[in-house]
Amino acid sequence: MFSLQQFPLPFAPDALAPYMSAETVGYHYGRHLDTYIKKLNELIGGTEYARLGLGDIIMRSARDEHGQKIFDNAAQVFNHAFFFQGLRRDCPREMPEQIADAFGGADKFRAEFRDHAASVFGSGWTWLVIDGDTLRIIDTKNADTPMVHNMRPILTLDVWEHAYYLDYQNRRAEYIDAFLDHMINWCWVGQNLGGNM
Ligand code: MN
Repeated sequence: MFSLQQFPLPFAPDALAPYMSAETVGYHYGRHLDTYIKKLNELIGGTEYARLGLGDIIMRSARDEHGQKIFDNAAQVFNHAFFFQGLRRDCPREMPEQIADAFGGADKFRAEFRDHAASVFGSGWTWLVIDGDTLRIIDTKNADTPMVHNMRPILTLDVWEHAYYLDYQNRRAEYIDAFLDHMINWCWVGQNLGGNM
């Protein structure tokens, strides 16, 4: 069984204001993520999934014809935990050179990520991933998540409306810009890149 305490928020709820308000963090982390966790617990209770870790639940349910609800909730738990880890507290570091180099410059990475996040139709996520040995930007719909496509996530932005509506209403582009310019925890991103590019 999972609990919210297993996925602690790595910053104070008001640490990202004004770019992401404490109210948004309160709902998004304290309500949305918590609901996915509770729903997952309900779904896996008494099943063979209950003994598995989160990653194994995601991978198995993705291949289970009756596993859609479990997949949706488990993947959303992972996606949200990963998203919150990627938000900046007070890391002074800039975009790692590996990323800028891979996209032809920091500005080009920024523009490509922005275009992806702005063009996700409906609910989904924009990700920086390692696919094979290549850094790529991809989008996923709903709860879909890179690990089931054999990609390793490096950074993600939640573009479900609940992620930004309280602060930006329908102005998703402003939310994306605030993320790219003010909220990315580049120190953590650098750790995710590791040495195995
Ligand atoms: Mn969300």
